[in-house]
Amino acid sequence: MSGFKLGGMTIGSVFKKPETLLYPFEQKQAPAGLRGHVIVDLSMCVFCGICQKRCPADAIAVDKAAGTWAIDDFACVQCACCVKECPKNCLLMEPSPSAVGTSKAPRVFVVGSMR
Ligand code: SF4
Ligand code: SF4
Repeated sequence: MSGFKLGGMTIGSVFKKPETLLYPFEQKQAPAGLRGHVIVDLSMCVFCGICQKRCPADAIAVDKAAGTWAIDDFACVQCACCVKECPKNCLLMEPSPSAVGTSKAPRVFVVGSMR
């Protein structure tokens, strides 16, 4: 690449809008077909544990005794296997990015909560 062309690109970029966004304050619209992240409606969950057994990434932990359902968004590969296998249809892929996490901990849901 010639120095002239490179210089032109550099000067041009000074006046252009940045390509990057101030995530998470600014976010792009989700592209069509984005699998997004798993959400759960625990009011319909019977804690059968099928989603946990079918998850290829070991991202779900179901504890019937404690009444909790947990998902590790850092392990989930968005395959939607759990959604297809749930007999109660209480799992769904929400086509938007996961919420910003402040720690690498699973999201834990307790009976009576939604999402
Ligand atoms: S498969 Fe469905 S009903 Fe069974 S534990 Fe998972 S979310 Fe609950
Ligand atoms: S979408 Fe796939 S990887 Fe993610 S929790 Fe469900 S089964 Fe596991």
